[in-house]
Amino acid sequence: MSVQKVLDTIKEKGIEWVDFRFTDIGGKSHHLSVPAVEVEAETFETGVAFDGSSITGFRGIEESDMVMMPDTDSAFVDPFTAHPTLVLLCDIYTPDGVRYDRDPRSIAVKAEEYLKTTGLGTDAYFAPESEFFIFDDVRYESGMNKSFYEVDSEEAAWNTGRKEEGGNLAFKTGVKGGYFPVAPTDTQQDIRSEMCRLLQEAGLRIERHHHEVATAGQGEINFRFSTLTKTADNLQKYKYIVQNVARQYGKVATFMPKPLFGDNGSGMHVHQSIFNDGNPLFYEKGAYANLSQMAIYYIGGILHHAPSLIALTNPSTNSFKRLVPGYEAPVNLVFSKGNRSAAVRIPIAAVTPKGCRIEFRTPDSTANPYLAFAAMLLAGLDGIKNKIDPTALGYGPLDKNIYELSDEEKKEIRSVPGSLEEALDALEANHSFLTESGVFTEDFIANFIELKRAEAKAVAIRVHPHEYSLYFGV
Ligand code: GLU
Ligand code: MG
Ligand code: MG
Repeated sequence: MSVQKVLDTIKEKGIEWVDFRFTDIGGKSHHLSVPAVEVEAETFETGVAFDGSSITGFRGIEESDMVMMPDTDSAFVDPFTAHPTLVLLCDIYTPDGVRYDRDPRSIAVKAEEYLKTTGLGTDAYFAPESEFFIFDDVRYESGMNKSFYEVDSEEAAWNTGRKEEGGNLAFKTGVKGGYFPVAPTDTQQDIRSEMCRLLQEAGLRIERHHHEVATAGQGEINFRFSTLTKTADNLQKYKYIVQNVARQYGKVATFMPKPLFGDNGSGMHVHQSIFNDGNPLFYEKGAYANLSQMAIYYIGGILHHAPSLIALTNPSTNSFKRLVPGYEAPVNLVFSKGNRSAAVRIPIAAVTPKGCRIEFRTPDSTANPYLAFAAMLLAGLDGIKNKIDPTALGYGPLDKNIYELSDEEKKEIRSVPGSLEEALDALEANHSFLTESGVFTEDFIANFIELKRAEAKAVAIRVHPHEYSLYFGV
């Protein structure tokens, strides 16, 4: 969209406020609003100044003056404001006019520019499947959040609109019915449809929505793939709309990877492929899963770098509570045509040459999409450049049921890191695939590790309720 088109839209739609947004290192969107009458063509050249000093992970007070530079292609009308508001997603620049090296969106833009310089392709396409839970918003109901540490699927059932206590359970609709049972088990059809309607108005192409496997209340909406930065923008719009529609319904939506102990968590599987001037490069008819050699090397890069990559795709302490066996979350660093416990799956149903892609199943929505997509692309490109053969390195393909393997065979399979600290250790030891190209700076990686180690420590030093059941009576 051109600057003129944005200015026309402001007039045509009676826009009163223009909301400038950026994403912090943790993946959270921040915003400030400017009266629409003050926004003119020049605003798009000078940008909008803001104080970056209070944003977690950005630089200190001495370098607090920052500039947001809006991307006109990202414009959408905020569906939730009483006063008509146009949102613009922005890159961050320093006052000297250079991209801020800790700005996640700038890192995504740089990753796309880098791809073009490699000569390996012109565009990388991404499509995330970001799962979420919708719970009743119990913040103001006294006594209901008594044991938030210990909610399990039973309590969640109670928490998703079925609050009858005690009584005869024989006369109640079940709360868990496999993948996607119709209503009345699925109580959230209309909420998801409303989310989709607003996502379409914001410019996303919706492919489907459905209930997910966990206890009543887990859902997923899929939107169409696009290029790297655009898809990350779409994900930020997606989270904003999902969370605020839930709020309009008096509910709360969470993308936390493992809100319930003992039930499926929420992942963000990421589908990805590379094209050259409109031609798909991952497809080769008749090869394993119809994958080209380039795609196989890309998988090699992802799996070989996975332990450190996961620090960026699963950057929370809660992420590792999802990555355990038994809940369709991937724990095995292998690739496979069908196996859902494999970190890399190759979808083979209804796939055209253009739709041929790989699916990295490990990520979750605590990932900052700009950083995670950039890091995955760099890991994959490193695999292509260095011809990292996943089979020679023992990463599969593994198409057998993993539970049917002998103990010897199982021992051969490597697992994802067991904790955020382990992933951060791996990132500290191996990150040249991120920094060599200049897309990520050494400063960025060191700062990221420091921020995330502090999070891990904050969780580790707190007394956990389960410690009472283990040790209180000692
Ligand atoms: N919820 C599962 C996960 O944590 C994935 C379920 C699915 O295959 O869609 O990744
Ligand atoms: Mg799913
Ligand atoms: Mg999937």
